[in-house]
Amino acid sequence: MKILVLDRFSAEATAWLKSHSGFDVTLANSLDAPSVIGRDFDGVILRSKTKVNETFLNAMPALKALVSATAGFDHIDLALCAERGVKVANCPDSHAASAAELTWTLLLACARKLRAAETTARSQNWDREPLLGWQFEGKTHGIVGLGRIGSRVARVARAFGMNVVAHDPYRDNAWFAKHEAERVGVDELFHLADSVSIHVPLTRETNGRYNRIHLDLLKPHSIVVNTSRGGALKEADLLIHLKNKGPGTVGLDVFAQEPLKPGHDFGSYPQVVMTPHIGATTHEAFKAVSMEAARSLVGLLTNGAVSGPLPPREEWYQAVSDLAGTSPF
Ligand code: NAD
Repeated sequence: MKILVLDRFSAEATAWLKSHSGFDVTLANSLDAPSVIGRDFDGVILRSKTKVNETFLNAMPALKALVSATAGFDHIDLALCAERGVKVANCPDSHAASAAELTWTLLLACARKLRAAETTARSQNWDREPLLGWQFEGKTHGIVGLGRIGSRVARVARAFGMNVVAHDPYRDNAWFAKHEAERVGVDELFHLADSVSIHVPLTRETNGRYNRIHLDLLKPHSIVVNTSRGGALKEADLLIHLKNKGPGTVGLDVFAQEPLKPGHDFGSYPQVVMTPHIGATTHEAFKAVSMEAARSLVGLLTNGAVSGPLPPREEWYQAVSDLAGTSPF
């Protein structure tokens, strides 16, 4: 079996893949690499920067299985893969803890004006007046998408002594009770919450779903953090909101176009804290996702165990394929 691993991958997982007899493993940074061009591969491991569309699948006529070493899978045209008989999996389990922790990093950075505080601490002028922040204890945190990441964010919110409200139409009441979150509608969530974090997959339903209407419902001190996908929080509306000095501060790890172009408008607003899509960029998540992807690819190619076979059973996946090819992720 010829296996292609595109993008970053751990040495341990590479060694594990190579230990399978009959597996010939090629590591490359892109499809244009000389070690890739003109070769047929039976299995591919990739990340979200590689779009799995017609062009990709045409270049891989022998492909039997592919695994995305990511939780999101909006970069894969699932319908086309099914049509070509290519089995697909994502890695839903390895990134959740790191992404939840980055969500809290951004929430805390917004609440305590970390960007400005850092600059002040490094200057001779320790003027703390403009650095008056907000505490979380006693406040309400709103979670959009109470899945693997959202439920971890809820756990930390409760540890801070917060009340948790959440919106997720695809989870039942028992799930909400288990995660001690009160079920609310989207508008109600943005209206009630002192801080909001977004953890939905990018689907036809969630693409641009959180917009001007919701930003207008925010309290003056509110914080909104998006670590899911840039398209979910409508950027054009967010930019207008920031320009009009609308309420709240914003933490962003994900953007509609990545990487952000130098001089992008978001950078000019002091009420925005940004990170370059590093939700899963930890040693632990990298190691775990590489092994999860390696095991899943072997599972797909040998009819063995697979952690995230795609499409998932939940109803919401059905909208995902529609975005492949148009989605920038
Ligand atoms: P998950 O599948 O465990 O949870 C997603 C939740 O969203 C589910 O509970 C689902 O029911 C809910 N949902 C689906 N459609 C919805 C809708 N229209 N409205 C409200 N809720 C809806 O996924 P997860 O592991 O929690 O990850 C969520 C997303 O975060 C991923 O799809 C991925 O795009 C993104 N992510 C980003 C990073 C990063 O580096 N920033 C890392 C990991 C994941």
